[in-house]
Amino acid sequence: ANPVVAIVGRPNVGKSTLFNRIVGERLAIVEDIPGVTRDRLYSQAEWLGKPFHLIDTGGIDFDDHDELLESIRHQAELAVDEADVIVLVVDGTVGITDQDQDVARMLFRSKKPVVLAVNKIDNPQRLNDVYEFYSLGMGEPMPISGAHATGIGDLLDEIIKHF
Ligand code: GDP
Ligand code: MG
Repeated sequence: ANPVVAIVGRPNVGKSTLFNRIVGERLAIVEDIPGVTRDRLYSQAEWLGKPFHLIDTGGIDFDDHDELLESIRHQAELAVDEADVIVLVVDGTVGITDQDQDVARMLFRSKKPVVLAVNKIDNPQRLNDVYEFYSLGMGEPMPISGAHATGIGDLLDEIIKHF
């Protein structure tokens, strides 16, 4: 079976944007069909000839903070169970939040390989915002911009090292 890669993180950090970037053209074709949903949770993907399954764990939004936290935990737990490699996405424009730390702690306990993606690093001026994420204890934070499609290749290189 192909390895499974799960994209994990609190809402609004850019998980679905990254998912769409990695899945690429295949998803664009799907979006052209009227009535086909834009958000997909599972897809096949491939990098440098290595196929894998990609999971976007987001999707449910809650107003209540406790419920939200519980939902993120639950998603992360499911991802940990299923995944061979986990991509933890954080928002470089916001910095580390309690929710980021909560998910990071759980992923750390799982002992599964985690690649840390700091999203919304849209230009080189924002690179300084990446360093604080070292303190999450998830290794080297990798700057990406899902919106501008930068850093995605380096991130995928790192992901497939763990296959
Ligand atoms: P999710 O809730 O984690 O799936 O996040 P989404 O992918 O839905 O993105 C949340 C918001 O962040 C949307 O308004 C996106 O357009 C925006 N966003 C995603 N990636 C980037 C990025 O690289 N840079 C900027 N500036 N905004 C982004
Ligand atoms: Mg999403």
